[in-house]
Amino acid sequence: MSKKKVNIFGTTGSIGQSTLQVLRGYKGKYDFIAFSAHDNVDQLIKDCLEFKPQYANIGNEKHFLKLKNALHDTDISLSYGRDALLDLACTKVDWSMSAIVGFSGVEISLLCAEHSQILALANKEALVCAGKLLLSICKTYNTELIPVDSEHSAIFQCLTGERRKDLKSITLTASGGPFRNWSLKRMGSVTLKEALNHPNWRMGTRITIDSASMFNKSLELIEAMHLFELEFSDVEVIIHPQSIVHSMVNFKDGTTLAQLSVPDMKGPIGYALNYPKRLNIDIENVNFAKIGSLEFYMPDKEKFRSLEIVEKVGRNLDLGVIFNAAKEIALDRFISGEIAFLDMAELVEKTLAESSLINKILKKPQKISDIIEINELTRGIAEKIKF
Ligand code: NDP
Ligand code: MG
Repeated sequence: MSKKKVNIFGTTGSIGQSTLQVLRGYKGKYDFIAFSAHDNVDQLIKDCLEFKPQYANIGNEKHFLKLKNALHDTDISLSYGRDALLDLACTKVDWSMSAIVGFSGVEISLLCAEHSQILALANKEALVCAGKLLLSICKTYNTELIPVDSEHSAIFQCLTGERRKDLKSITLTASGGPFRNWSLKRMGSVTLKEALNHPNWRMGTRITIDSASMFNKSLELIEAMHLFELEFSDVEVIIHPQSIVHSMVNFKDGTTLAQLSVPDMKGPIGYALNYPKRLNIDIENVNFAKIGSLEFYMPDKEKFRSLEIVEKVGRNLDLGVIFNAAKEIALDRFISGEIAFLDMAELVEKTLAESSLINKILKKPQKISDIIEINELTRGIAEKIKF
């Protein structure tokens, strides 16, 4: 059997590295085509020496010489910068992992949808900002989109073999992050270090802070609406501190199916790699007797304002790109120490109310260039909002 060609965009990130961990056991079955990194040139060099992809791209030009020197006696074609990265995403392959973080991964995801037979999608921002476009590209090119986000992988798994019309609603689980039991008052003085201390998952910096503010869950709610063609009222968010039940699907006959596993992204990645078959992955099954009990309760939307604000987006999905761009700027400003943790929600809310942005959205973003333009405009506005 011929080897499957695979791309991994965002190779050096948390998802990228978990993807390599899964693939490490099956190297002989795959041809590695493109790897990419932005700043972590040392990790990219290591991965290139081990997996020998055909192409490797480093986003930041200043690391290119180091990459070139380290890999000069290999056959790997090396490049730097965004244009070369976009070109790589146009390579015809069997499977692409889209795991660049944030809006930077959106256009890559769209190109992978056009040129890969299967798109394993970790970059949730692609659905939030350009969901309609992404899904229409997948339809046009007959690309299979398999979600990697653990909640969406769970729903996808629960829906496999079911009739779509039997689905009533879905329940997205959320760990509640490190501030689940904090008072609103105490959350007023959250530090960056505290926000980075996720109780259950080890992930990249940005998604870890988004999980602490529950902006991550708001993005996931929109992601789910696009992926599974749901109305806002069909998606419920529930806190489940143990992160064992990754989400649930409620059917019209009163049945609820859930997918359970210990929190480890290798599970959803492996599922996306070998769907519909399951791979042998070194993850223990859930030990129910040891866990004893699983808890579920409703989130406090006063503390996690993002869950309230997202309703506006849920009622008009075209607002997704504004929501995400404002959230990205809010996050940058929190990380730099310029605004407080709870200010992030206020910044997003104020940005979403900007009439000039709303006017742009009313024209209905159709193409990636429209989405890039609205993203840029929103960022400019969100950067200027004063506290
Ligand atoms: P990381 O921050 O760990 O990794 C991000 C990757 O993107 C790195 O390879 C990084 O390169 C690269 N990158 C960053 N900026 C750019 C840019 N401007 N251009 C090109 N490449 C860039 O993120 P995660 O792996 O945690 O997350 C990746 C995506 O997957 C996100 O969209 C996230 O929401 C989603 N996701 C992640 C989960 C997780 O468990 N981590 C779970 C579910 C979804 P470098 O490091 O070399 O600078
Ligand atoms: Mg998730």
